[in-house]
Amino acid sequence: MTQKIPATLIPGDGIGPEISEAVVRILGAIEAPFEWDSQAAGMAGIDAHGDPLPKSLLESIRKTGLALKGPLTTPVGGGFRSVNVTLRKEFELFANLRPARTLISGGRYEDIDLVLFRENLEGYYAAMEHYLPVENDPKAVAISTGYNTRAECRRIITYAFEYAVKNNRKKVTIVHKANILKLLTGLFLEEGREVAKKYEGRVEMNERIVDACAMQLVMDPYQFDVIVTTNLFGDILSDQIAGLIGGLGMAPGANIGEKAAIFEAVHGSAPDIAGKGWANPVALLMASGLMLQHIGRKDLADRLQTGIDGAFASGVRTRDLGGSAGTKEITDAIIHHLS
Ligand code: ATP
Ligand code: MG
Repeated sequence: MTQKIPATLIPGDGIGPEISEAVVRILGAIEAPFEWDSQAAGMAGIDAHGDPLPKSLLESIRKTGLALKGPLTTPVGGGFRSVNVTLRKEFELFANLRPARTLISGGRYEDIDLVLFRENLEGYYAAMEHYLPVENDPKAVAISTGYNTRAECRRIITYAFEYAVKNNRKKVTIVHKANILKLLTGLFLEEGREVAKKYEGRVEMNERIVDACAMQLVMDPYQFDVIVTTNLFGDILSDQIAGLIGGLGMAPGANIGEKAAIFEAVHGSAPDIAGKGWANPVALLMASGLMLQHIGRKDLADRLQTGIDGAFASGVRTRDLGGSAGTKEITDAIIHHLS
């Protein structure tokens, strides 16, 4: 018997419990080695513990270092910080991984297979903002300060190159705006060039200015393989590459740090269809595939992918994809097509 790996499961809000249940069922079918510790957060956390980020959840992630997270709703009002941002800071999750791969052919592009790494802690999203008063207007000028540290640039870029090596990817593109933000993103580019030297002959490196990159992603996305960039650019480009494969609906993501990694679907809690049995579990399932890769079980991640590809090839579509299958039907179809 394989050793069980403790992992935190956060079913989440809205459709979260339905899609988590489906994913746990599919992972069970491939005998994924996770031992789940289920924890409430978001609205469910408020209901259970009066806190969107209960201590027991943080304790659990601190122990397991591994979490699969359904969509969470941060309650409006009540002064709660975004649960997602808090988790990122709490566990220093420096890398945001956003792969984009075509799952259903017949869309805008065929055979997209890209991976983007976004620096998750620095840049303009450090959000040190303030106003400067001018004469009688206290809010006449708005100022935002961004910062990048060499150490963090090196860490995220190295992570992207290591990922390329481990996953047989050929090229890493450093995306920057060093022609204008000469220091802030120049530093990222400099570190990129340094890190790339260590991978010479193994992984090719090239550079793109972010605006040109955005255009080229639309005109010829096939020239890209792995992209690594700073926080703000990464936020924008990661949604752009999701657009290449038909939107956020089936996009997984991961937030990775030295001590913990949290895997999630990129979509929200879809309160409009919660409880109806219609939710599409594929994004969260793909996120669990990233989690399997993260623990070194690419074999199981590949099996999941075979199941998903097989289900789609057989024509099964949930309502968000224009079909009529419910969560149970697509889950059954995926299990049926696991190799
Ligand atoms: P939140 O407030 O949690 O962000 P939202 O409604 O603003 O929720 P999403 O949850 O991302 O944003 O939903 C946008 C639309 O996409 C909704 O109509 C929702 O029903 C649909 N949707 C999102 N995820 C799924 C899914 N996994 N399966 C089916 N439909 C989905
Ligand atoms: Mg939303």
